[in-house]
Amino acid sequence: MDFDLAVVGGGPVGLFLALATRAAGLRPVVLEARAPGATQADDRSLALSWASCLRLERVGAKLPAIETGGAIRAIHVSHAGHAGRSWITASDAGIPMLGRVLGYGELVHALSGAARDAVDVRHEHAVSAIAPDDDGVHVVTAAGDVRARVAVVADGSGALLAESGFSTKTKDYGVHALVARVTADGPARDVAYERFSTHGPLALLPRGDGFAIVWTLPEDAARELAAAPDAAFLRALQDAFGWRAGRFSTVAARACYPLVLRETTPLVRGRIAVIGNAAQTLHPVAGQGFNLGLRDAWAVTSALRAGSVDDPLATYTATRKRDRAAVVGFTDTLAGLFRSDAPGVGSLRALGLEALDLLPGARRLFARALAVDAGR
Ligand SMILES: Cc1cc2nc3c(=O)[nH]c(=O)nc-3n(C[C@H](O)[C@H](O)[C@H](O)COP(=O)(O)OP(=O)(O)OC[C@H]3O[C@@H](n4cnc5c(N)ncnc54)[C@H](O)[C@@H]3O)c2cc1C
Repeated sequence: MDFDLAVVGGGPVGLFLALATRAAGLRPVVLEARAPGATQADDRSLALSWASCLRLERVGAKLPAIETGGAIRAIHVSHAGHAGRSWITASDAGIPMLGRVLGYGELVHALSGAARDAVDVRHEHAVSAIAPDDDGVHVVTAAGDVRARVAVVADGSGALLAESGFSTKTKDYGVHALVARVTADGPARDVAYERFSTHGPLALLPRGDGFAIVWTLPEDAARELAAAPDAAFLRALQDAFGWRAGRFSTVAARACYPLVLRETTPLVRGRIAVIGNAAQTLHPVAGQGFNLGLRDAWAVTSALRAGSVDDPLATYTATRKRDRAAVVGFTDTLAGLFRSDAPGVGSLRALGLEALDLLPGARRLFARALAVDAGR
Protein backbone atom coordinates (compact mmCIF):
# COMPACT_ATOMS: atom_id res chain seq x y z
CA MET A 1 0.00 0.00 0.00
CA ASP A 2 1.45 3.39 -1.03
CA PHE A 3 -0.28 5.44 1.67
CA ASP A 4 -2.45 5.04 4.78
CA LEU A 5 -4.87 7.67 3.49
CA ALA A 6 -5.50 9.63 0.31
CA VAL A 7 -7.00 13.04 1.10
CA VAL A 8 -9.14 14.25 -1.82
CA GLY A 9 -8.90 18.07 -1.74
CA GLY A 10 -6.16 20.27 -0.32
CA GLY A 11 -8.37 23.05 1.08
CA PRO A 12 -7.95 24.04 4.73
CA VAL A 13 -9.75 20.97 6.11
CA GLY A 14 -7.90 18.48 3.86
CA LEU A 15 -4.51 20.01 4.66
CA PHE A 16 -5.29 20.01 8.38
CA LEU A 17 -6.23 16.32 8.20
CA ALA A 18 -2.97 15.51 6.41
CA LEU A 19 -0.94 17.29 9.11
CA ALA A 20 -2.89 15.71 11.98
CA THR A 21 -2.55 12.17 10.58
CA ARG A 22 1.15 12.74 9.81
CA ALA A 23 1.69 13.84 13.42
CA ALA A 24 -0.07 10.62 14.48
CA GLY A 25 2.51 8.58 12.57
CA LEU A 26 0.37 7.80 9.50
CA ARG A 27 1.31 8.30 5.82
CA PRO A 28 -1.12 10.69 4.07
CA VAL A 29 -1.08 11.97 0.49
CA VAL A 30 -3.08 15.04 -0.52
CA LEU A 31 -4.54 15.22 -4.05
CA GLU A 32 -5.50 18.79 -4.93
CA ALA A 33 -7.05 19.90 -8.23
CA ARG A 34 -5.64 23.42 -8.23
CA ALA A 35 -2.08 24.62 -8.92
CA PRO A 36 0.19 25.55 -5.97
CA GLY A 37 -0.64 29.01 -4.64
CA ALA A 38 -3.94 29.21 -6.54
CA THR A 39 -5.91 29.91 -3.36
CA GLN A 40 -3.58 32.66 -2.07
CA ALA A 41 -5.80 35.35 -3.57
CA ASP A 42 -9.02 33.95 -1.99
CA ASP A 43 -9.84 36.68 0.49
CA ARG A 44 -12.95 35.03 1.99
CA SER A 45 -12.96 35.64 5.74
CA LEU A 46 -13.12 32.65 8.05
CA ALA A 47 -13.98 32.96 11.75
CA LEU A 48 -11.80 30.55 13.67
CA SER A 49 -12.87 29.61 17.16
CA TRP A 50 -10.31 29.70 19.97
CA ALA A 51 -10.23 25.88 19.97
CA SER A 52 -9.59 25.80 16.20
CA CYS A 53 -6.63 28.18 16.61
CA LEU A 54 -5.13 25.83 19.20
CA ARG A 55 -5.67 22.81 16.93
CA LEU A 56 -4.03 24.57 13.98
CA GLU A 57 -1.00 25.51 16.10
CA ARG A 58 -0.78 21.97 17.40
CA VAL A 59 -0.26 20.57 13.87
CA GLY A 60 2.43 23.20 13.15
CA ALA A 61 0.47 25.87 11.21
CA LYS A 62 2.06 29.27 11.91
CA LEU A 63 -0.84 31.71 11.84
CA PRO A 64 -0.08 35.39 11.11
CA ALA A 65 0.60 37.59 14.17
CA ILE A 66 -2.60 38.47 15.98
CA GLU A 67 -2.20 42.24 15.26
CA THR A 68 -2.85 41.50 11.59
CA GLY A 69 -5.30 38.67 12.15
CA GLY A 70 -8.33 40.25 13.82
CA ALA A 71 -8.86 38.87 17.32
CA ILE A 72 -12.47 38.50 18.50
CA ARG A 73 -12.54 39.37 22.20
CA ALA A 74 -16.23 40.24 22.38
CA ILE A 75 -19.42 39.67 20.38
CA HIS A 76 -22.29 42.15 20.36
CA VAL A 77 -25.64 40.59 19.34
CA SER A 78 -28.67 42.78 18.52
CA HIS A 79 -31.91 42.70 16.58
CA ALA A 80 -32.82 45.54 14.20
CA GLY A 81 -35.90 47.46 15.34
CA HIS A 82 -36.31 45.52 18.62
CA ALA A 83 -35.18 45.92 22.19
CA GLY A 84 -32.78 43.39 23.65
CA ARG A 85 -29.13 42.92 22.99
CA SER A 86 -26.32 40.80 24.31
CA TRP A 87 -22.64 41.36 24.93
CA ILE A 88 -20.55 38.19 25.13
CA THR A 89 -16.87 38.44 26.04
CA ALA A 90 -13.87 36.12 26.11
CA SER A 91 -13.63 36.60 29.87
CA ASP A 92 -17.18 35.11 30.15
CA ALA A 93 -15.60 31.92 28.80
CA GLY A 94 -12.38 32.32 30.83
CA ILE A 95 -10.16 32.46 27.72
CA PRO A 96 -8.04 35.25 26.17
CA MET A 97 -10.10 35.52 22.97
CA LEU A 98 -13.23 33.94 21.51
CA GLY A 99 -11.53 33.40 18.19
CA ARG A 100 -9.99 35.29 15.29
CA VAL A 101 -10.63 36.07 11.66
CA LEU A 102 -8.32 35.05 8.85
CA GLY A 103 -8.47 35.14 5.08
CA TYR A 104 -8.93 31.78 3.36
CA GLY A 105 -5.68 32.34 1.41
CA GLU A 106 -3.74 33.19 4.59
CA LEU A 107 -4.99 30.02 6.26
CA VAL A 108 -4.11 27.76 3.32
CA HIS A 109 -0.70 29.45 3.18
CA ALA A 110 -0.05 28.68 6.88
CA LEU A 111 -1.15 25.06 6.48
CA SER A 112 0.83 24.60 3.23
CA GLY A 113 3.93 25.95 5.01
CA ALA A 114 3.55 23.35 7.76
CA ALA A 115 2.96 20.60 5.19
CA ARG A 116 5.92 21.55 2.97
CA ASP A 117 8.49 19.07 4.35
CA ALA A 118 6.07 16.78 6.15
CA VAL A 119 3.37 15.72 3.70
CA ASP A 120 3.22 14.59 0.06
CA VAL A 121 0.87 17.24 -1.46
CA ARG A 122 0.21 16.72 -5.18
CA HIS A 123 -1.22 19.76 -6.94
CA GLU A 124 -2.98 19.60 -10.31
CA HIS A 125 -4.22 16.12 -9.36
CA ALA A 126 -7.98 16.42 -9.82
CA VAL A 127 -9.55 13.17 -8.62
CA SER A 128 -12.04 11.68 -11.09
CA ALA A 129 -12.97 8.43 -9.29
CA ILE A 130 -12.43 6.46 -6.10
CA ALA A 131 -12.56 2.68 -6.55
CA PRO A 132 -12.54 0.55 -3.39
CA ASP A 133 -11.21 -3.02 -3.44
CA ASP A 134 -10.67 -5.66 -0.73
CA ASP A 135 -8.00 -3.94 1.31
CA GLY A 136 -7.83 -0.37 0.07
CA VAL A 137 -8.83 2.21 -2.54
CA HIS A 138 -7.57 3.24 -5.97
CA VAL A 139 -7.85 6.98 -6.34
CA VAL A 140 -7.86 7.97 -10.00
CA THR A 141 -6.41 11.23 -11.37
CA ALA A 142 -5.32 12.18 -14.90
CA ALA A 143 -1.82 12.76 -13.52
CA GLY A 144 -1.55 9.24 -12.08
CA ASP A 145 -3.39 6.92 -9.66
CA VAL A 146 -2.72 6.48 -5.96
CA ARG A 147 -3.39 3.47 -3.77
CA ALA A 148 -4.19 3.89 -0.08
CA ARG A 149 -5.89 2.06 2.81
CA VAL A 150 -8.68 4.65 2.87
CA ALA A 151 -9.81 7.78 0.98
CA VAL A 152 -11.05 10.84 2.85
CA VAL A 153 -13.07 13.24 0.71
CA ALA A 154 -12.47 16.93 1.60
CA ASP A 155 -13.29 18.44 -1.80
CA GLY A 156 -15.73 21.06 -0.46
CA SER A 157 -18.64 20.02 -2.69
CA GLY A 158 -18.84 16.23 -2.39
CA ALA A 159 -19.17 16.05 -6.18
CA LEU A 160 -17.62 12.57 -6.36
CA LEU A 161 -19.66 11.03 -3.57
CA ALA A 162 -22.87 10.01 -5.38
CA GLU A 163 -20.94 7.42 -7.42
CA SER A 164 -19.77 5.83 -4.17
CA GLY A 165 -23.31 5.50 -2.74
CA PHE A 166 -23.47 8.63 -0.56
CA SER A 167 -26.53 10.86 -0.68
CA THR A 168 -27.01 14.55 -0.10
CA LYS A 169 -29.90 16.49 1.45
CA THR A 170 -30.10 20.18 0.58
CA LYS A 171 -32.22 22.96 2.11
CA ASP A 172 -32.17 26.23 0.21
CA TYR A 173 -32.51 29.20 2.59
CA GLY A 174 -33.70 31.33 -0.35
CA VAL A 175 -31.28 34.11 0.55
CA HIS A 176 -27.74 35.10 -0.44
CA ALA A 177 -24.71 36.10 1.62
CA LEU A 178 -23.18 39.35 0.43
CA VAL A 179 -19.56 39.44 1.66
CA ALA A 180 -17.18 42.42 1.59
CA ARG A 181 -14.38 44.16 3.49
CA VAL A 182 -15.17 47.57 4.96
CA THR A 183 -13.43 50.15 7.11
CA ALA A 184 -15.11 52.30 9.77
CA ASP A 185 -13.92 55.13 12.02
CA GLY A 186 -15.13 53.64 15.35
CA PRO A 187 -12.59 52.69 18.03
CA ALA A 188 -13.41 49.00 18.64
CA ARG A 189 -11.13 46.70 16.67
CA ASP A 190 -11.58 43.41 18.47
CA VAL A 191 -15.38 43.19 18.57
CA ALA A 192 -17.55 41.09 16.26
CA TYR A 193 -21.12 42.26 15.71
CA GLU A 194 -24.09 40.08 14.83
CA ARG A 195 -27.20 42.09 13.94
CA PHE A 196 -30.37 40.22 13.03
CA SER A 197 -32.92 41.61 10.61
CA THR A 198 -35.96 40.23 8.79
CA HIS A 199 -33.80 38.52 6.15
CA GLY A 200 -31.30 37.06 8.61
CA PRO A 201 -28.05 38.17 10.16
CA LEU A 202 -25.57 40.88 9.25
CA ALA A 203 -22.18 39.99 10.75
CA LEU A 204 -19.20 42.32 11.10
CA LEU A 205 -16.01 40.45 11.91
CA PRO A 206 -12.84 42.36 12.88
CA ARG A 207 -10.20 41.92 10.20
CA GLY A 208 -7.08 44.01 9.51
CA ASP A 209 -7.89 47.70 9.96
CA GLY A 210 -11.61 47.19 9.39
CA PHE A 211 -14.26 44.47 9.21
CA ALA A 212 -15.23 41.56 7.03
CA ILE A 213 -18.99 41.60 6.57
CA VAL A 214 -21.37 38.73 5.85
CA TRP A 215 -24.81 40.18 5.07
CA THR A 216 -27.80 37.91 4.49
CA LEU A 217 -30.19 39.32 1.88
CA PRO A 218 -32.70 38.23 -0.78
CA GLU A 219 -30.86 37.39 -4.01
CA ASP A 220 -31.95 40.51 -5.92
CA ALA A 221 -30.97 42.88 -3.12
CA ALA A 222 -27.63 41.10 -2.62
CA ARG A 223 -26.76 41.31 -6.32
CA GLU A 224 -27.87 44.93 -6.54
CA LEU A 225 -25.74 45.96 -3.56
CA ALA A 226 -22.79 43.91 -4.82
CA ALA A 227 -22.83 46.02 -8.00
CA ALA A 228 -23.85 49.38 -6.44
CA PRO A 229 -21.46 52.35 -6.35
CA ASP A 230 -19.37 52.40 -3.14
CA ALA A 231 -21.23 55.38 -1.65
CA ALA A 232 -24.65 53.74 -2.16
CA PHE A 233 -23.39 50.48 -0.66
CA LEU A 234 -21.94 52.23 2.41
CA ARG A 235 -25.19 54.17 2.95
CA ALA A 236 -27.25 50.96 2.81
CA LEU A 237 -24.86 49.24 5.23
CA GLN A 238 -25.00 52.20 7.64
CA ASP A 239 -28.83 52.14 7.53
CA ALA A 240 -28.96 48.41 8.19
CA PHE A 241 -26.28 48.28 10.87
CA GLY A 242 -26.42 51.65 12.62
CA TRP A 243 -23.50 53.54 14.17
CA ARG A 244 -22.05 51.13 16.74
CA ALA A 245 -18.87 50.65 14.72
CA GLY A 246 -18.68 54.32 13.64
CA ARG A 247 -19.05 55.69 10.11
CA PHE A 248 -18.32 53.20 7.34
CA SER A 249 -15.82 54.77 4.96
CA THR A 250 -14.50 52.26 2.38
CA VAL A 251 -15.64 48.98 0.85
CA ALA A 252 -13.75 46.35 -1.18
CA ALA A 253 -13.91 42.71 -2.29
CA ARG A 254 -17.69 42.36 -2.66
CA ALA A 255 -19.07 38.92 -3.65
CA CYS A 256 -22.36 36.97 -3.35
CA TYR A 257 -23.07 33.34 -2.42
CA PRO A 258 -26.39 31.46 -2.26
CA LEU A 259 -26.99 30.06 1.23
CA VAL A 260 -27.92 26.41 1.65
CA LEU A 261 -27.73 23.75 4.29
CA ARG A 262 -26.29 20.62 2.69
CA GLU A 263 -25.73 17.38 4.56
CA THR A 264 -24.12 14.21 3.22
CA THR A 265 -25.05 10.78 4.59
CA PRO A 266 -23.57 8.47 5.64
CA LEU A 267 -20.22 9.87 6.77
CA VAL A 268 -18.46 6.60 5.95
CA ARG A 269 -19.01 3.92 3.36
CA GLY A 270 -16.48 1.12 3.66
CA ARG A 271 -13.11 2.72 3.09
CA ILE A 272 -14.33 6.17 2.09
CA ALA A 273 -15.01 8.93 4.65
CA VAL A 274 -16.24 12.47 4.11
CA ILE A 275 -15.24 15.61 6.07
CA GLY A 276 -15.47 19.41 6.02
CA ASN A 277 -17.76 21.24 3.63
CA ALA A 278 -18.21 18.05 1.60
CA ALA A 279 -19.87 16.52 4.68
CA GLN A 280 -21.93 19.57 5.64
CA THR A 281 -22.27 23.08 4.28
CA LEU A 282 -23.82 25.42 6.84
CA HIS A 283 -25.44 28.85 6.91
CA PRO A 284 -22.62 31.21 8.00
CA VAL A 285 -24.75 32.74 10.80
CA ALA A 286 -22.59 31.39 13.63
CA GLY A 287 -19.31 31.06 11.68
CA GLN A 288 -19.11 27.36 12.55
CA GLY A 289 -18.55 25.62 9.16
CA PHE A 290 -14.78 25.53 9.15
CA ASN A 291 -14.55 24.79 12.88
CA LEU A 292 -16.84 21.77 12.44
CA GLY A 293 -14.69 20.60 9.50
CA LEU A 294 -11.55 20.67 11.65
CA ARG A 295 -13.30 18.52 14.25
CA ASP A 296 -14.29 16.04 11.49
CA ALA A 297 -10.61 15.80 10.55
CA TRP A 298 -9.58 15.34 14.17
CA ALA A 299 -12.12 12.51 14.54
CA VAL A 300 -10.92 10.76 11.35
CA THR A 301 -7.39 10.86 12.75
CA SER A 302 -8.55 9.23 16.01
CA ALA A 303 -10.61 6.66 14.08
CA LEU A 304 -7.64 5.67 11.91
CA ARG A 305 -5.46 5.24 15.00
CA ALA A 306 -8.09 3.07 16.69
CA GLY A 307 -9.44 1.22 13.63
CA SER A 308 -8.66 -2.35 12.59
CA VAL A 309 -7.00 -3.42 9.34
CA ASP A 310 -10.37 -4.61 8.01
CA ASP A 311 -12.46 -1.66 9.22
CA PRO A 312 -10.10 1.32 9.58
CA LEU A 313 -12.85 3.96 9.86
CA ALA A 314 -15.16 2.03 12.20
CA THR A 315 -15.47 4.68 14.93
CA TYR A 316 -15.69 7.83 12.80
CA THR A 317 -19.47 8.08 12.33
CA ALA A 318 -20.34 7.46 15.98
CA THR A 319 -17.87 10.07 17.24
CA ARG A 320 -19.26 12.78 14.93
CA LYS A 321 -22.98 12.17 15.41
CA ARG A 322 -23.67 14.38 18.41
CA ASP A 323 -21.41 17.33 17.56
CA ARG A 324 -22.60 17.43 13.95
CA ALA A 325 -26.31 17.24 14.80
CA ALA A 326 -25.91 19.91 17.50
CA VAL A 327 -24.07 22.40 15.28
CA VAL A 328 -26.34 21.83 12.25
CA GLY A 329 -29.42 22.21 14.50
CA PHE A 330 -28.07 25.29 16.31
CA THR A 331 -27.07 27.04 13.06
CA ASP A 332 -30.32 26.18 11.28
CA THR A 333 -32.44 27.33 14.24
CA LEU A 334 -30.53 30.60 14.55
CA ALA A 335 -30.89 31.23 10.80
CA GLY A 336 -34.68 30.77 11.03
CA LEU A 337 -35.39 32.21 14.48
CA PHE A 338 -34.60 35.80 13.67
CA ARG A 339 -36.58 35.71 10.42
CA SER A 340 -39.88 34.56 11.90
CA ASP A 341 -42.65 37.17 12.02
CA ALA A 342 -45.07 34.99 14.01
CA PRO A 343 -46.90 36.91 16.81
CA GLY A 344 -44.86 37.07 20.01
CA VAL A 345 -41.64 35.82 18.47
CA GLY A 346 -40.14 39.34 18.43
CA SER A 347 -40.70 39.72 22.21
CA LEU A 348 -39.30 36.26 22.87
CA ARG A 349 -36.17 37.09 20.89
CA ALA A 350 -35.71 40.34 22.83
CA LEU A 351 -36.24 38.45 26.09
CA GLY A 352 -33.72 35.82 25.00
CA LEU A 353 -31.05 38.41 24.22
CA GLU A 354 -31.71 40.25 27.51
CA ALA A 355 -31.59 36.97 29.46
CA LEU A 356 -28.34 36.04 27.77
CA ASP A 357 -26.95 39.43 28.73
CA LEU A 358 -28.11 39.33 32.34
CA LEU A 359 -27.29 35.75 33.25
CA PRO A 360 -23.54 35.18 33.57
CA GLY A 361 -24.06 31.39 33.50
CA ALA A 362 -25.90 31.57 30.17
CA ARG A 363 -23.31 33.94 28.72
CA ARG A 364 -20.52 31.65 29.81
CA LEU A 365 -22.21 28.64 28.20
CA PHE A 366 -22.84 30.52 24.97
CA ALA A 367 -19.31 31.95 24.85
CA ARG A 368 -17.77 28.54 25.42
CA ALA A 369 -20.06 26.99 22.80
CA LEU A 370 -18.85 29.50 20.19
CA ALA A 371 -15.19 29.60 21.20
CA VAL A 372 -14.42 26.12 22.37
CA ASP A 373 -16.59 23.49 20.71
CA ALA A 374 -20.13 24.31 19.71
CA GLY A 375 -21.48 20.78 19.77
CA ARG A 376 -19.97 19.55 23.02
C1 LIG B 1 -20.34 33.24 2.55
C2 LIG B 1 -19.63 32.24 3.37
C3 LIG B 1 -19.08 32.63 4.58
C4 LIG B 1 -18.46 31.71 5.38
N1 LIG B 1 -18.02 32.14 6.60
C5 LIG B 1 -17.44 31.27 7.43
C6 LIG B 1 -16.97 31.70 8.69
O1 LIG B 1 -17.07 32.86 9.08
N2 LIG B 1 -16.39 30.81 9.51
C7 LIG B 1 -16.25 29.50 9.11
O2 LIG B 1 -15.72 28.70 9.90
N3 LIG B 1 -16.67 29.05 7.92
C8 LIG B 1 -17.26 29.90 7.06
N4 LIG B 1 -17.69 29.47 5.83
C9 LIG B 1 -17.48 28.06 5.45
C10 LIG B 1 -16.03 27.81 5.01
O3 LIG B 1 -15.74 28.54 3.83
C11 LIG B 1 -15.84 26.33 4.77
O4 LIG B 1 -16.24 25.67 5.96
C12 LIG B 1 -14.41 25.92 4.46
O5 LIG B 1 -13.90 26.59 3.32
C13 LIG B 1 -14.43 24.42 4.16
O6 LIG B 1 -13.14 23.95 3.89
P1 LIG B 1 -12.95 22.59 3.08
O7 LIG B 1 -11.47 22.36 3.08
O8 LIG B 1 -13.86 21.54 3.58
O9 LIG B 1 -13.46 22.88 1.58
P2 LIG B 1 -12.93 23.92 0.51
O10 LIG B 1 -12.40 25.13 1.17
O11 LIG B 1 -14.02 24.08 -0.48
O12 LIG B 1 -11.69 23.17 -0.19
C14 LIG B 1 -11.89 22.06 -1.08
C15 LIG B 1 -10.60 21.81 -1.89
O13 LIG B 1 -10.79 20.64 -2.67
C16 LIG B 1 -10.31 20.87 -3.99
N5 LIG B 1 -11.04 19.97 -4.91
C17 LIG B 1 -12.32 20.06 -5.33
N6 LIG B 1 -12.63 19.01 -6.14
C18 LIG B 1 -11.52 18.25 -6.23
C19 LIG B 1 -11.21 17.04 -6.91
N7 LIG B 1 -12.10 16.38 -7.67
N8 LIG B 1 -9.94 16.51 -6.80
C20 LIG B 1 -9.01 17.15 -6.04
N9 LIG B 1 -9.25 18.32 -5.38
C21 LIG B 1 -10.49 18.85 -5.45
C22 LIG B 1 -10.58 22.36 -4.23
O14 LIG B 1 -9.73 22.86 -5.25
C23 LIG B 1 -10.27 22.95 -2.85
O15 LIG B 1 -8.92 23.31 -2.71
C24 LIG B 1 -18.32 30.36 4.97
C25 LIG B 1 -18.82 29.95 3.74
C26 LIG B 1 -19.49 30.88 2.95
C27 LIG B 1 -20.05 30.44 1.64
